[in-house]
Amino acid sequence: MKQKEILSNIPFNNQDEDHDVFSYETPLRPDAFEKDDDLKIELIEKHFKEIMHILGMDLSDDSLKGTPRRVAKMYVKEVFSGLNPASKPVTKLFDNKYNYDQMLVEKNITFYSHCEHHFVPIFGKAHVAYFSSGKVIGLSKINRIVQYFSKRPQVQERLTVQIAEELKKALKTEDVAVVMDAKHMCVSSRGVNDTNSQTGTANFSGKFNDPAIRAEFLNYINSSTVM
Ligand SMILES: [Zn+2]
Repeated sequence: MKQKEILSNIPFNNQDEDHDVFSYETPLRPDAFEKDDDLKIELIEKHFKEIMHILGMDLSDDSLKGTPRRVAKMYVKEVFSGLNPASKPVTKLFDNKYNYDQMLVEKNITFYSHCEHHFVPIFGKAHVAYFSSGKVIGLSKINRIVQYFSKRPQVQERLTVQIAEELKKALKTEDVAVVMDAKHMCVSSRGVNDTNSQTGTANFSGKFNDPAIRAEFLNYINSSTVM
């Protein structure tokens, strides 16, 4: 049932998973973390140097010689650090002492990701809402969950579902909504060179399947005031 709900929002391609025909997991090999970060940086540096060399660049130039290592470190330690489950944020829940039972919205969460088809940036805003199950989460943890899944080679559809699923788990509720608006550099800076188009994705579960509640959330995120 849960899977069906997700699929009603966003369709997915079949992926090679043990049981589920459909999966929102990032496709990773079982040996993905057998190499440690230092070794990964060393290997990527070597290969990136080769790419630059093939392109004809003079790697003895002062400005270029540090680039392979910089790129390798950036990949492993920054922009793709969310591949490693070790960087997953630890979420702590608090009692909802004030019995706040309305929708909580956190909007305009800035995120930077990379398109897995071209390895160029996807960036934009995520908007998240939930109803408390009796527990609440520190607000900055919502941002951290968004950042964690963004720091992977991604497609926006999967990123949206991964954030929604993690929030449901963390918040122990199905009543979660995620909307993402993003610019894809692979669309704006190359290919069709469309600098204006923006891509929107959404994942609604639980109470957010109610059109009135969904409308209330969308109204919040489209208004210029905070709530
Ligand atoms: Zn792309």
